[in-house]
Amino acid sequence: MTSKVYWGSPRQALLDGKETLPAKLDLIIDALHLRDRVNKENVCIKLHVGNDIGYSVIHPVFVRKVVQAIKDGGGKPFIADVSWDVAGCEQRGYTAEVLGCPVYPAAGPRDHYYYTHDWEYKNLKSWKVAGMIEDASFMVNFAHIKGHPATGFGGAFKNIALGCMVGETRGQMHDVNHFDRYWFKDRCPDAELRKKIVDSCPFGALVFDKNDPEEIHIHFDPCNNCMRCQQVAPEGALKIDAVNFQAFQEACAISTAIT
Ligand code: SF4
Repeated sequence: MTSKVYWGSPRQALLDGKETLPAKLDLIIDALHLRDRVNKENVCIKLHVGNDIGYSVIHPVFVRKVVQAIKDGGGKPFIADVSWDVAGCEQRGYTAEVLGCPVYPAAGPRDHYYYTHDWEYKNLKSWKVAGMIEDASFMVNFAHIKGHPATGFGGAFKNIALGCMVGETRGQMHDVNHFDRYWFKDRCPDAELRKKIVDSCPFGALVFDKNDPEEIHIHFDPCNNCMRCQQVAPEGALKIDAVNFQAFQEACAISTAIT
C-alpha cells in the first residue's frame, strides 16, 4: 500500500514568513485535513521528547501547531512518549504550557500501565503496548528522523515500533538478534585462538561473555560484515548471518503491526 507524501522543503528561497518550515507545516496540516478527522477523538500525538541533553527532536513550535489544529477540529490531544523520556522533558521545552496539551508517560510513570498482546517471535512471546497509546482513538505519528545503528534510519516506523512499547518489551526486541545461534564454542576449544578472533574485529564488535571466557558475543550495531573474523575463526565456529541482522527489523515490523 502506498501513501501520498507531502514534503515541506527546509529550503527558503525568499525572506518571507510563508517560506519557513512552520508555515509549510500549516500547509501540510491543511492538506491532510487533520482538523476534519479528529472531531471528538482522543488523539495521541506520539512524539519522541528526547532524553537528558538530547535536542535533535521536533521543536515545540511545530508540536504546538499540530496540537492547535487538533483542538480546532474538536479533538482532545495529548502527547505521549516512553516514561523515562517524559520525566524531565520540561528541560527541553516540552510542557503543557508551551505545547497546549498534557505530556504523558505512555505507560504511566512506572511503566506499569500496558496491554499485553501474544505474538510469538524468537525470544518474544508477548508484547506490552503502552496503555495511553492503546486507549487513544486516533494517533498522530509525529516522528523525527535519526541515524540508527541497528536500522540505518529511525523515523515514523521506529517511533511506533519501539516508542509505543514498555521498557521490558523494548529490551526483548533489542535482544532478538542474539536468538539464532552464531557462536559454536565446541568448534573453537583453543583459548588463544578465541582471543585472536575477538582481536581480529577492527570495530570492536566481538566481545567475550563477562562470565564465560568460552562464549563470544557479537555487537551487531558496529559489525559491518567485513568478514575479517572469518579469516581467523575455525570453520563453523562463528556465523555472520543475515538472519541475526534482520531480526530486529522484523521485530519492529511486528510491534508496529500490533500497535
Ligand atoms: S564481520 Fe563483523 S564481527 Fe566480523 S570482523 Fe567484521 S565487523 Fe567484526
